[in-house]
Amino acid sequence: MLQNKTALVTGSTSGIGLGIAKALAKQGANLILNGFGDYAAAKAEVEAAGAAFGIKVGYSGADMSKPADIEAMMREATTAFGGVDILVNNAGIQYVSPVESFPAEKWDAVIAINLSSAFHTTRLAIPAMRAKNWGRIINIASAHGLVASANKTAYVAAKHGIVGLTKSVALEVATTGITVNAICPGWVLTPLVQKQIDDRAANEKITVEQATKDLLGEKEPSLQFTTTEQLGELAVFMCSPAADNIRGVAWAADGGWTAQ
Ligand code: NAD
Repeated sequence: MLQNKTALVTGSTSGIGLGIAKALAKQGANLILNGFGDYAAAKAEVEAAGAAFGIKVGYSGADMSKPADIEAMMREATTAFGGVDILVNNAGIQYVSPVESFPAEKWDAVIAINLSSAFHTTRLAIPAMRAKNWGRIINIASAHGLVASANKTAYVAAKHGIVGLTKSVALEVATTGITVNAICPGWVLTPLVQKQIDDRAANEKITVEQATKDLLGEKEPSLQFTTTEQLGELAVFMCSPAADNIRGVAWAADGGWTAQ
């Protein structure tokens, strides 16, 4: 049960972030949502998930590539919710290209959104967590935080980076009630992955069904997508007392991808 806790989930208007926000809301946590697109629909889903507890749901449109936006979001979280108890660094983008033709501005955007944003939210969230001697920081890395694929240099660098950030911060707060861990999903069928499937179908002149099968078959021994609900439950576990001494792990939820 997470009543009287406030969770901030970056990039929670869609996909994995929305799934985690709903799972935390179901446990009674208040939620601060963030991300682009239809935030009203996401807010309604999260409010419904937490209806039994009458949770409070806020929203910040902060752009995770902009440190000043992140600072403003964290200040608003303190004013409106008294700080962040559970920080889920989830916002992320993908860009696929061989390194020789990888646009420099795409590199900068992937590193800023997928990695540097987590540094900024973390440094700003920890003082209030230390004061309460309780906190959870959950970084959504990827199987690509543990192993690489070609043509995803910025993403793989950012995800390996966030696994390193996770371990380092976990050590800094190891004697406190704050834990810091990473979740490393394999394929999850969200808009971020649907685009890669659609691009693959178009490039290879195959059906979307075939492209989906090929995508899973190439990397994921289970031949199944991890679901946003499963990742939400994993995040809930990481917030539970059973996980009080789980610190600095990069927990794969990848159908066996990184066991190979
Ligand atoms: P998604 O595209 O469905 O959602 C991404 C979210 O991030 C959206 O809410 C979007 O608005 C938000 N976002 C993007 N740029 C932003 C910015 N500059 N500022 C604020 N918010 C921004 O993607 P997803 O698949 O749910 O991915 C979520 C996270 O999970 C990412 O970090 C991704 O790398 C990671 N991940 C995804 C998969 C997968 O298979 N889908 C696998 C492993 C890891």
